[in-house]
Amino acid sequence: MAEYSALRVITEGLRGNRGWKPAWRKAEPKPRYDVIVVGGGGHGLATAYYLAKNHGLRHVAVVEAGPIGLGNVGRNTTIVRSNYLLPENHDFYEWSLKLWEGLSHELNYNVMFSQRGVLNLAHSPEQMDVAAERGNAMRLAGIDADLIGRDEVAQLCPGIDLSEEARFPVAGGLIQRRAGTARHDAVAWGYAHAADRLGVDIIENAPVTDFITEGGTITGVVTPRGEIRADKVGVAVAGMTSEVMRMAGVEGLPIESHVLQAFVSEPVKPLVHCVVTYGAGHMYVSQSDKGGLVFGGSLDFYNSYARRGNLANVHDTVSELLAIFPNVARIKLLRSWGGIMDMSMDGSPIITPGPLPGLYLNCGWCYGGFKATPASGWCFAHTIARDEPHALNAGFTLSRFAEGRHIDEAGTGAVPGLH
Ligand SMILES: Cc1cc2nc3c(=O)[nH]c(=O)nc-3n(C[C@H](O)[C@H](O)[C@H](O)COP(=O)(O)OP(=O)(O)OC[C@H]3O[C@@H](n4cnc5c(N)ncnc54)[C@H](O)[C@@H]3O)c2cc1C
Repeated sequence: MAEYSALRVITEGLRGNRGWKPAWRKAEPKPRYDVIVVGGGGHGLATAYYLAKNHGLRHVAVVEAGPIGLGNVGRNTTIVRSNYLLPENHDFYEWSLKLWEGLSHELNYNVMFSQRGVLNLAHSPEQMDVAAERGNAMRLAGIDADLIGRDEVAQLCPGIDLSEEARFPVAGGLIQRRAGTARHDAVAWGYAHAADRLGVDIIENAPVTDFITEGGTITGVVTPRGEIRADKVGVAVAGMTSEVMRMAGVEGLPIESHVLQAFVSEPVKPLVHCVVTYGAGHMYVSQSDKGGLVFGGSLDFYNSYARRGNLANVHDTVSELLAIFPNVARIKLLRSWGGIMDMSMDGSPIITPGPLPGLYLNCGWCYGGFKATPASGWCFAHTIARDEPHALNAGFTLSRFAEGRHIDEAGTGAVPGLH
């Protein structure tokens, strides 16, 4: 019987629920592993899972500063999509979306992936042209995309203000129907559970404070729970990338850390039937299964490691929400929080061997790393196990910034912008 199944829930219910085991063990660090993955967010846990599952490695540890799931993996607005323009990005994110489609079964853990569609609104004929260009690029790559007019927008999501009096009237939009949302915590817990069952040690409350180097090669990490050695060390610490890599002696990465906020309203009846993004600004909203509107906007645009944001940004984001859903003006904002984004200088990620022998780097996820979790883990595991990138992350090098080969999805140049 699968560890989590309807039959198991019924059987355990009849037995007083005494047979459940913890979803993952509280592992004690061993002196040595084949691979240590630093960072127990979505990407680190997925990497450890695929190292064990796809590459047969049995001595793998995830070393996490706190309890797992409290980083960005548990702080995001849960949007999953592959509606990218540039080939490197749309191939990588489409593979991720394919993995999402089977993830609950793969992990035997319900990640509540809901393919309710992601609708990017356009507010002018010119924006419709840009949406058509992106949609065509996606369709040429075999990815689903539909350009739709106002009538279909109204059918899909009747709550949207489609009046001509709107400040930026809606012209139509681009929808990716296979895109949607997932339960962010469950993704961390699901990968932790599945990796644990393959023998991965998940070592919590063990912040890496230094790296062990022998003859210029990274051979382990130092934590308050002791030194742990390994043949290979992968770093997947998202917003803390610059600080952790500095401990290894690597300075000047093309990464800035910025705070991004998210908001949840009190629960309301079903109103936002798909994920909706506002085209005349930068705001994205979906509705959780409990009824809360989950939404976010832009960075606060100052470098920070504080996981809370400023009020001006709350005002901006809420104003943009009301521009397309004026009927929610009186509902209460229930919660808000911030997460630290690892903003790369072209908006695309880095998954690479190096930059030191024995070290492997995964970072630069900007706003979009949650949707990347499965493919990032898949590709980073390949990169670590085989000492060379997978075809899907071959372009996501660190050296591209020095070589001027940016993968500039938003076309904004070398800034930590709205990627
Ligand atoms: C408000 C907000 C909204 C977002 N919305 C979306 C969205 O809708 N869709 C989307 O695709 N993406 C979204 N993102 C981005 C996404 O959440 C991140 O890109 C992604 O989660 C980053 O990867 P991760 O899960 O591995 O990061 P994290 O969960 O942050 O994992 C990194 C881990 O490294 C650990 N760590 C740090 N330092 C050390 C150390 N010294 N030693 C050991 N461990 C260490 C941290 O404790 C943390 O657990 C959003 C992010 C935020 C903050």
